[in-house]
Amino acid sequence: MAFCKEPTCKREIFFLFNQETGNTVPVDPDSMLEEEIYRYKTGSDTVYFDKSYHVSHFKTCRKPDNFSQAKKKINGGKNDKT
Ligand SMILES: [Zn+2]
Repeated sequence: MAFCKEPTCKREIFFLFNQETGNTVPVDPDSMLEEEIYRYKTGSDTVYFDKSYHVSHFKTCRKPDNFSQAKKKINGGKNDKT
């Protein structure tokens, strides 16, 4: 069982392997099927990341900055009034 390391978030996340990218993706349990969660927890079968319905925690985390390797501009320069 894994939880988000961000102190203000701490949501339960499931690490699913993305066969397209070869990386594991932290996925929100809400987006997973019950049987997938069962398989994940029991380890009876590997659950792979499916972008068609699995929601990456990258998108829902309160602090997505923690995950992004390449830092993006947060405000896109819109608040820059100088
Ligand atoms: Zn989080």
